[in-house]
Amino acid sequence: MDGAREALDMVAEETLDPLDWADVQALSHRVVDDAINYLRDVRDRPVWREMPAEVRSVFEAPLPRVPSPMADVYGEVSRTVMSYPMGNVHPRFWAWYMGAGNFAGALGDFLAAIQGSNLGGGNHAAALMDRQVVNWCKQMLGFPASASGTLVSGGSMANIIGLTVARNAKAGVDVREHGVAAIEKPLRFYGSDQLHSCHRKAMEALGLGNRALCRIPTDASLCIDVPALRAAIAQDRAAGFEPACIIGSAGTVNTGAIDDLQALAALASEEGMWFHVDGCIGALIAIAPENAHLVAGIEKADSVALDPHKWLHAPFEVGCALVRDAAAHRRTFAVTPEYLESTPRGLASGEWLNDYGLQTTRGFRALKVWMALKQHGLDKFGRLIDQNIAQAGHLARLIEAEPLLELATAPTINIVCFRYQPGLAGEPLKALNTEIMLRLQEEGIAALSDTTVHGQHWLRVAIANHRTRRGDLDLLVRETLRLGWEIAAEGPFGKAAIFDKPDNESRSA
Ligand SMILES: *Cc1c(COP(=O)(O)O)cnc(C)c1O
Repeated sequence: MDGAREALDMVAEETLDPLDWADVQALSHRVVDDAINYLRDVRDRPVWREMPAEVRSVFEAPLPRVPSPMADVYGEVSRTVMSYPMGNVHPRFWAWYMGAGNFAGALGDFLAAIQGSNLGGGNHAAALMDRQVVNWCKQMLGFPASASGTLVSGGSMANIIGLTVARNAKAGVDVREHGVAAIEKPLRFYGSDQLHSCHRKAMEALGLGNRALCRIPTDASLCIDVPALRAAIAQDRAAGFEPACIIGSAGTVNTGAIDDLQALAALASEEGMWFHVDGCIGALIAIAPENAHLVAGIEKADSVALDPHKWLHAPFEVGCALVRDAAAHRRTFAVTPEYLESTPRGLASGEWLNDYGLQTTRGFRALKVWMALKQHGLDKFGRLIDQNIAQAGHLARLIEAEPLLELATAPTINIVCFRYQPGLAGEPLKALNTEIMLRLQEEGIAALSDTTVHGQHWLRVAIANHRTRRGDLDLLVRETLRLGWEIAAEGPFGKAAIFDKPDNESRSA
């Protein structure tokens, strides 16, 4: 190549790689150091804080057309994103339901991005590891080795995978070819009135519609009323519907209630129905020695959704769908377009993992789960689940010992619903407790959420957090009482007369 030609090539060709790798190396070492300090010191920071206007304005900046030094880019991320997190890695984050992350998992996400494989499938190490993590999930739940599964973005997608296989298996027609309109008798799916909202979205997306999902009432412990379910199935059958699938909840989002999975498995089998378990919260209790009995029967399900980014604390996102009948799973999703045909050898000789779900390109989610499991061992994750459940019991006892606090029900697992109760009812009680919840967040003390169960409003503490200590829950109780008293004294709940100053003597230690 002559010199002029070479010079031309040099101006014409660009890359995203740095000119000087040594610069990148120095900055990256700083990023890792900062990241480690960030997690080490998380307890010293507020759980959450409101962003000042100047931070918000950063996210309104226009599309950058020109480059900035990587150090400046990182500096901006550090000042904004890293400084104003959601807070779920903090020991006193108990809102909604999520995991607290872990460092090995974060390294896994980093290395997955560096290694860069596409988990649509193929013959490479990441694809084998993806299969292995799915196999490990089967083992955790006592599923047979012949079952199939797939890692997806989270529990919502995992439920959609399970429900889609259920629909196709029970439709009686080739839904893939002819669509839901060709189904002879309208399919009906059943779950409790405590079912997670993702099932409604799934039913809508599956073309079955929200009304095809029957919400069966729950008993006092918020578990599905099995006799009522049995009656609903019989009634629907008589009315010309096709009862297709029972969705059991292994840990409801409101209170952590676990349906009688053994009874549901038996009923589904009797009725020739698909049995799906939403185990996004509770499936992993199967690995916790003291509480595994609570989810006995989960291994009988036709499909299960579980969520490693909850109780395995994998960094977001990773969910997992398991399906007992691997052939039915493949039949639901497999398509082999001409550009994805397998070859006898080489890169395309591996399995196409996208035959088990809706995505074509798939991220390397397995690595973060694999690294954390290898580092800590499964038994430790099981003990941490038991620890969270014991902590919920501790919190419930503290609440019961406080005359001004009211416990909704004794927790089954790690979710505690309670409220500050100075003798109010209805909207004023809800407003007071909402204000307590907001100040706990705004003062950076703790992040709780709230919910309504059988018409009653409660503050909700979901302890899926390996950093939480009992002292954090003691603090929560103290601060709730302080805020309850302060807010009540301020009005508009007014009527300070009904709020006797909490008597310190009567409190538990
Ligand atoms: C969290 C949750 C889901 C949804 O899972 P994502 O990972 O948030 O998509 C579904 N069901 C239950 C019971 C859950 O707790």
